[in-house]
Amino acid sequence: MSILKESVGPNDVRIKINTVGICGSDVHYYLHGRIGPFIVKEPMVLGHEASGTVIEVGTNVKNLKVGDRVCMEPGIPDLNSRATLLGMYNLDPAVRFWATPPIHGCLRENGSSSGHVYLQVAG
Ligand SMILES: [Zn+2]
Repeated sequence: MSILKESVGPNDVRIKINTVGICGSDVHYYLHGRIGPFIVKEPMVLGHEASGTVIEVGTNVKNLKVGDRVCMEPGIPDLNSRATLLGMYNLDPAVRFWATPPIHGCLRENGSSSGHVYLQVAG
């Protein structure tokens, strides 16, 4: 899996990562290579609690623009799931998380994900 080939889809934004926190799950993956059924089988970028600046937006993204400062929600829901459409994307049973195999985290220069999961920071 190459993190350099990530493209920005119509519902995605690309973020220039400014700050990334390191939390307990990052430490577990680093020290033990797994958390429960999630096993690191190939190199994976850690970090899933981050803030940054929008540098690219997909054609369908209307709530963010280039230059917006944002913090990210590490859960990546299926935007068409019942839970997401009801406004409870965190309950989507298919939700995936940054820095949980096989999804790379955000301890890198930039990353892209659904514009739905970024929160704009005031100022
Ligand atoms: Zn965490």
